[in-house]
Amino acid sequence: MTKLSRLRAEFAGRLVEPGDPEYDEARAVWNSMHDRKPSLIARCATAEDVSAALRHARTTGRAVTVRGGGHNVAGTAVADDAVMVDLSLMREVRVDPNAGVAHAQGGCLLRDLDAATLAHGLVCPSGVVSHTGLGGLALGGGYGWLHRKWGLTCDHLLAAEVVLADGTIVEASADLLWGLRGGGGNLGVVTRFTLRLREVSAVHLHTGVFAPDDAVAALAAYRDFAEAQSRDLHTVGAFKHAGRQDWIPAALRGTPAMFLTAAWFGDPADGPARTTPLFVDAAGNSARVLPFAELQALGDHSEPHGNRYYTKSCYLTRLSGGPDARLVECATEMPSPLSAIDFEFLGGAITDVPDADSAFPRRDAPYMCTVSAQWTDPARDSENAAWSRRGVERLAEWHYGGAYVNYLQDEQPGKVAEVYGAGRYERLAVLKSRYDPANQLAGNQNIPPLPERKP
Ligand SMILES: Cc1cc2nc3c(=O)[nH]c(=O)nc-3n(C[C@H](O)[C@H](O)[C@H](O)COP(=O)(O)OP(=O)(O)OC[C@H]3O[C@@H](n4cnc5c(N)ncnc54)[C@H](O)[C@@H]3O)c2cc1C
Repeated sequence: MTKLSRLRAEFAGRLVEPGDPEYDEARAVWNSMHDRKPSLIARCATAEDVSAALRHARTTGRAVTVRGGGHNVAGTAVADDAVMVDLSLMREVRVDPNAGVAHAQGGCLLRDLDAATLAHGLVCPSGVVSHTGLGGLALGGGYGWLHRKWGLTCDHLLAAEVVLADGTIVEASADLLWGLRGGGGNLGVVTRFTLRLREVSAVHLHTGVFAPDDAVAALAAYRDFAEAQSRDLHTVGAFKHAGRQDWIPAALRGTPAMFLTAAWFGDPADGPARTTPLFVDAAGNSARVLPFAELQALGDHSEPHGNRYYTKSCYLTRLSGGPDARLVECATEMPSPLSAIDFEFLGGAITDVPDADSAFPRRDAPYMCTVSAQWTDPARDSENAAWSRRGVERLAEWHYGGAYVNYLQDEQPGKVAEVYGAGRYERLAVLKSRYDPANQLAGNQNIPPLPERKP
């Protein structure tokens, strides 16, 4: 009996090899820059399957990658010649509305979680594009519409079932949970996330557009507005090509413009009074009340599967008084009309969690900025990637330090250590030495185990 037929005998899901009809679809990830060919795709149906796939990889000497939603911009879910532990068949969610808790399998997309919880008027704060995977997002942090009001996705992680690198299935202990709250996929494969839920109702959403010439003034107004708001109000902004909606002035349609959006999570009736002050100088604006589920899917179409993506991101000390002019320059040099520069004011409930209580770093970062290149023609890869890199470099004077681990892509050596900072990085390395001493789970923003000490 070969090692593969032994795995087949105990595997409840599907094993996909090169040449199988579903191989190309199963190895494809969201960012088509990563056209990689694993030796085996283990489409797991249970935690026991995950365990069997990890043990198989170990005995055959193969590297392992873990696929949640396949959305990571760096394509860490797939690698040449590796065993891909694919969780995309594990997308069940059980909700206990009385306890205010959801149990979500490790391969859930955000939309799976939302669909199950919103049926009870509940939600776990998560990201802004519903086809993103819960796994990678929650383990790296999880910013979204509700982070100012209630904190990050990882702050809602109450418990987890984890398959360790040696195949052992465990309920996460307190130290492992600490590391899962922000440490990425380094410590094990999470097959069940137990998440705290919050009540949510309809949302008042207001968006306005500004011509590039007015952006510096609008960013100063944005700073004054955003920093003064209660946690029920979340604001985001972007430089991107304007669409053709009626409320966008004809002169701006199809050109790079600046958008500001304010989402009010209090009583929708109070929404207009809360959001309108941000848009008094906008060239055009539009406001409406929408169900939370619709808000969660608003970003779905602008970042589809299969395009080419390159992202650089940084935390910023401020947006106004320096970075603003650089952002406008960067926007006007955008080589692809699909690209965007996103920014947002953070703070709020993110800062309520004591810094030492989770692996998630830099809770006090004031602003996030992401320069996201998106295009379709492979011949234009270097031009678009260079634009994104240059965009973040030109903001260097105002970098807050660190970066969001889930937005890292082809970084310099040492970047992951910089993201976490010395003490936190060492604590994660100690956990890595305990839970994955051979660094079998290295297909991520990797934190290697500590070198073995000689007696
Ligand atoms: C269009 C888009 C929108 C986004 N929006 C947001 C946002 O609003 N907020 C935000 O915070 N981030 C956002 N992100 C970033 C997102 O958090 C990361 O891309 C994240 O890695 C996606 O998780 P995934 O499971 O889909 O990724 P995958 O590519 O499947 O996995 C990425 C890594 O996560 C690990 N992993 C995934 N699942 C598991 C698991 N169950 N157990 C152990 N390890 C696992 C693996 O190490 C893997 O290498 C967005 C990304 C995209 C592409």
